[in-house]
Amino acid sequence: MKVLLDQDKCVASGQCVVAAEAVFDQRDEDGVALLLTDEPPDDQAGDVKQAAAVCPARAIRYTTD
Ligand code: SF4
Repeated sequence: MKVLLDQDKCVASGQCVVAAEAVFDQRDEDGVALLLTDEPPDDQAGDVKQAAAVCPARAIRYTTD
């Protein structure tokens, strides 16, 4: 899985961190999301999909091979 995060779209709601705390964090200054890894292991794929689904800004995309 490859994860893409568009920080320009992010509205700092933090939903992605709740859904997938191993993959996402929030920048201290403004709450914009950060990717901890753009290639998370397979066992985190469900969490990433959930994060993408709940992101109100549609800022998270992913690809699977
Ligand atoms: S859920 Fe979306 S809008 Fe909210 S912090 Fe994460 S990437 Fe940003």
